[in-house]
Amino acid sequence: MDKKIVLFLFFACIVFCSFAQTIKSPDEFLGYPLGSKYTPHYKIVNYFKYAVAAMPQVMKLDQYGETNEGRPLLLAYIATPENLAKLDDIRKNNLRLTGMLTDQPGNTNAPVIVWLSYNVHGNETSSSEASMKTLYELLNPANNATKEWLKNTVVLIDPCINPDGRDRYVNWYNSVVGKNANPDKQSREHMEPWPGGRTNHYNFDLNRDWAWQTQKETQQRLKMYNQWMPQVHVDYHEQGYNNPYYFAPAAQPYHEVVTQWQRDFQVTIGKNNAKYFDSNGWLYFTKEEFDLFYPSYGDTYPIYSGAIGMTFEQGGGSRSGSAVIIDNGDTLTLKDRIAHHFTTGMSTLEMASQNKEKLMKEFSNFFINEKNNGIGEYKSFVVTDVNSNKINALKRMLDGNNILYSNAVINNAKGFNYFSGKEESFSAANSLVVSTYQPKGTLVKVLFEPKSKLVDSATYDITAWSLPYVFGLQAYAVKEKITITPYVAKQTTAAVPETSYGYLVNYTSFEEAKFLAALLNAGIRVRFAEKDFMLNGKKFMRGTLIVLKKGNETKLAEFAAAAQKFNANVTAISTGFMESGNDFGSAKTHFINQPKVALVTGKGTDAGAAGELWHLFEQELDYPLTLINADDFTNLSLKNIDVIILPNGNYKFLSDKEPLADLKTWVRQGGKIIALENAVNQMANGDWGLKVKKEDEEKDKKDEPKVSYADVKPYEENEHEYIKNTIAGAIYKLDIDNTHPLAFGYPNYYFTLKQDDKMYEFLKEGWNVGIIKKDSKVAGFAGSKVKDKIKDGTAIGVQEYGQGSIVYFSDDPVFRCFWENGKLMLSNAVFFVGQ
Ligand SMILES: [Zn+2]
Repeated sequence: MDKKIVLFLFFACIVFCSFAQTIKSPDEFLGYPLGSKYTPHYKIVNYFKYAVAAMPQVMKLDQYGETNEGRPLLLAYIATPENLAKLDDIRKNNLRLTGMLTDQPGNTNAPVIVWLSYNVHGNETSSSEASMKTLYELLNPANNATKEWLKNTVVLIDPCINPDGRDRYVNWYNSVVGKNANPDKQSREHMEPWPGGRTNHYNFDLNRDWAWQTQKETQQRLKMYNQWMPQVHVDYHEQGYNNPYYFAPAAQPYHEVVTQWQRDFQVTIGKNNAKYFDSNGWLYFTKEEFDLFYPSYGDTYPIYSGAIGMTFEQGGGSRSGSAVIIDNGDTLTLKDRIAHHFTTGMSTLEMASQNKEKLMKEFSNFFINEKNNGIGEYKSFVVTDVNSNKINALKRMLDGNNILYSNAVINNAKGFNYFSGKEESFSAANSLVVSTYQPKGTLVKVLFEPKSKLVDSATYDITAWSLPYVFGLQAYAVKEKITITPYVAKQTTAAVPETSYGYLVNYTSFEEAKFLAALLNAGIRVRFAEKDFMLNGKKFMRGTLIVLKKGNETKLAEFAAAAQKFNANVTAISTGFMESGNDFGSAKTHFINQPKVALVTGKGTDAGAAGELWHLFEQELDYPLTLINADDFTNLSLKNIDVIILPNGNYKFLSDKEPLADLKTWVRQGGKIIALENAVNQMANGDWGLKVKKEDEEKDKKDEPKVSYADVKPYEENEHEYIKNTIAGAIYKLDIDNTHPLAFGYPNYYFTLKQDDKMYEFLKEGWNVGIIKKDSKVAGFAGSKVKDKIKDGTAIGVQEYGQGSIVYFSDDPVFRCFWENGKLMLSNAVFFVGQ
């Protein structure tokens, strides 16, 4: 035969006989049977890279990002050769169905898109192993079932959302396991050390971060998600190893926006999963425990974005190792766990493919309904606040979610004032408006509505997150659709002019705290004003930063560059003589010493609480932080440390006599403690000055009536009895003493996320900067018995202690780093208090 013809036939075969190609199974590629040991992340990456090289006609692989520790984040696409060739057209058509792309109408006669996400919790390890098997069976030319489904289905696989967490667990496990896995739950391989592999590098739970996108992994992934907008999304997890498998339909509460179709199709998939589990004799449960309410999960976020979002949970997790004897005497192996996850993946794909027409039509209807009718009672959310830095923080979050915003055209409107809690008239002109008449309208409703309707209070997470409270932005919820124009950003700060004497900087948002941190890092000398003052007819608020030319002569260019970067509002001045208020030479003008800050971390601390502070300092405030282990605390010299932050935790050195005395001496000599949540509680029990509020409890006991028939309750009510004593995370309004430096930059109120019912007495020797009065809950659920307790006490306090000071935050001011409005107060605690 002619050589050219041979060559032609050879290439023709590569193009047309793609399904005849073969691919190694994970077992063959890895050199060990899947499930016999844990696979480190790089080998999972290698398998996906190998697979795409082996079968490029039916698979594509993108690296969409990188983790904090430099591991790649991957998204694989599996489709027929025809669909893969026009993958981007399929994606664009899908976006047209949502209304996110408006160049032409979308067509529902297109493949359904199913996205499978694995291993968001790093130590729920079986799922990434299952992702390899799932990929293999989708590609395997001999698997006719998957070939059939792929005719009308495009599958997206993220093999590992959280590689840093996974490898933290896997590397540890592989280093402690013996020649053979030991199924005895007491052996060390079942005792994962602090902080565990569930979370990412900064110990964030990535399955709480979807909407907030505070983390690098989420930001990068959500960019992809919002470019694809799948019809079905599955988030793979593991739970306690004694639990049978959990799959959809989910538990109550469902957020009211979950559509009937979304509820129905969860059942369709659940029943199909059950069919396979039944045939294998496997145990499972549905409709319990995992609810659909909080918007930052891998099931709710897709649901609020029009998809069928589901959580699947295998029994396992870090305590199961790769084999464990469970309570009923059976041995649960990694192999079993992989088989179960693989089965629900296949079952989901089967159902998606079989119901493709309906899925596409209902998906399209979801967005048509948003576009035509808006979502919910309130159609528009109007941000009237004028603080551009705070608005920018909100805009960053909206942008990350593809939420559109505009400017209001009308002048007068009526709506619910988030801060007063009342219906009021207001001027809306040029305000930022977020409407529910848009592709992310459902998510807008869920994120902005003042109160979310809760049909059942036994939820898994916080129950309130309304954005105006989170960002501290004056806003209104309006029932009408408001006329809008394209959004125009307000003028940003002008260039910093020359000065003969110095500069004043308004201090009203976290952005200015970042600016202050940058100035201190650059060695620029900064003061702040303790009281309001007037200069050139202009009022400057307490907290205003003062940067004098004298002493900063060589750093003025750096100052100007930082001012631009942080959008700081700078006024050049030519005198230190104030028209009213204190001159800059006054003792009421405080020089800010650059504090050396240490964060207590390690065993004993809540990893998430310590992690969010670590993240805040490194990634947001950009200010040096020394992490010290709680276990090492008593052996360390605190001489060179100015501030010790105690995140939520339980500290031995706060209860042991000797280290406690040493710590008190350190504070008396000028040290500063910033205590948060349970650390506050521990200090309140440790004779520092703050006291737990007990009077109500004692009063309750005295007034307690004799047991009556009302106390006889049916056993089946037990869950609801328990709930009366819980608070899952609700928003409370605090009265703020904003004359104290801790609250500079705030109005005289602040919205806090309360997660427990601990109350503290008013400080007699100290400053009650944030207090809870009566009836101050503004949103979210608090059990009936808890509700009565949360009143008339201090939530945020400052105590002077010898030369030093203590700042108490009984709630977390920077919760999951999305509680934006508390970040300034935490910064004030570091930079202002005690100066
Ligand atoms: Zn999980």
